[in-house]
Amino acid sequence: MIKEALLQRPLRRGYVQCTACEHWCAIAPGEAGKCGVRRNLDGSLKLVIYGKAVAVNVDPVEKKPLFHFLPAQSIFSIGTVGCNFRCRFCQNWEISQFRDFDPNDPRLGYDLPPEQVIAICRQRGIPMVALTYNEPAVFFEYAYDTCRLAHDAGILTAFVSSGFETKQALDLIAPYLDAINVDLKSFNDRFYREICGGRLQPVLRNIEYIWRETDIWIEVTTLVIPGLNDSDAELRDAAQFLVEISPDIPWHLTAFHPNYRMLDRPSTPTSTLIRAYEIAQEAGLRYVYVGNVLDHTRESTYCPICGTLLIERAGYRVRVLWSQPGVCHRCGYRIPGVWTSEDRAGAKSQTTQHRASGDEGR
Ligand code: SF4
Ligand code: SF4
Ligand SMILES: [Zn+2]
Repeated sequence: MIKEALLQRPLRRGYVQCTACEHWCAIAPGEAGKCGVRRNLDGSLKLVIYGKAVAVNVDPVEKKPLFHFLPAQSIFSIGTVGCNFRCRFCQNWEISQFRDFDPNDPRLGYDLPPEQVIAICRQRGIPMVALTYNEPAVFFEYAYDTCRLAHDAGILTAFVSSGFETKQALDLIAPYLDAINVDLKSFNDRFYREICGGRLQPVLRNIEYIWRETDIWIEVTTLVIPGLNDSDAELRDAAQFLVEISPDIPWHLTAFHPNYRMLDRPSTPTSTLIRAYEIAQEAGLRYVYVGNVLDHTRESTYCPICGTLLIERAGYRVRVLWSQPGVCHRCGYRIPGVWTSEDRAGAKSQTTQHRASGDEGR
């Protein structure tokens, strides 16, 4: 289905500008933006894959990855074709890099309007919905309507994002979005430009903005690629950046495996992930996790005060050990996150208390 874009502004000579992501595409009549799915048709910008889901799964929420967000629960996950990046290592390149547009092409996906997404979640008792697999900003209107309806139905919502949205897009979705996992693909602008077709600065701005200015719970993921973004210096800089915003931001350090246009690199050795994990902890981050490898110890959550194991993870097998959600059963410390459907507004309150009492970074 074709739907008028919420995020656009008219330019001269029939051009329209898309305001959904930091590419700010100025689009000529009949053409599409870089993502391929937002088109200038009949004098205004349209999302041409509204309600068309190409990837649909019920996943463990840990797979997103979101570790401080209703642990051990299922999340209804939807993606479409198109993306504003062209990462050479993309695992979902068959959908993200799809660019042909013929409304009758079955490769665009099948009809799954927001109302139906919510109906399925209700029928099956699924408490959350994720817009994921490709970048939700490019199918913003579909994501936005889904999140709004989800909230009306008491269902929590999440984006898995490259973090390249405009502030306008974030502000619009913020009242209806409970969590986001943002990729911090590297701490190097050249990497963003050459390997992903993006820029670093807007991603850094958005991570900070989401944490400080919105109620959206945020976790950050870095795919650690041998020889490209795995130097001690770069990992330390990234960790330092996050810790200065808050030591409570969970950071997922995940293993790369050769894919798409990056077949010339080996998979990330476990020793590299352990080194990255230690660098992040030394920088002061309290919740660091490795991913895409089985590492029972480093995928679990511990109390940062007394060291007690609170959530035990082994891949997608998750055991929650506290009796009161989000509270250390040994010392009573409150772990930041969204632990129940009612928790959202309080997700970052612990951090605020710590800022106020001056013990940030402990
Ligand atoms: S969402 Fe697509 S059309 Fe809009 S600015 Fe980004 S790449 Fe361009
Ligand atoms: S942002 Fe994600 S979906 Fe898009 S190209 Fe990069 S890895 Fe693939
Ligand atoms: Zn404790």
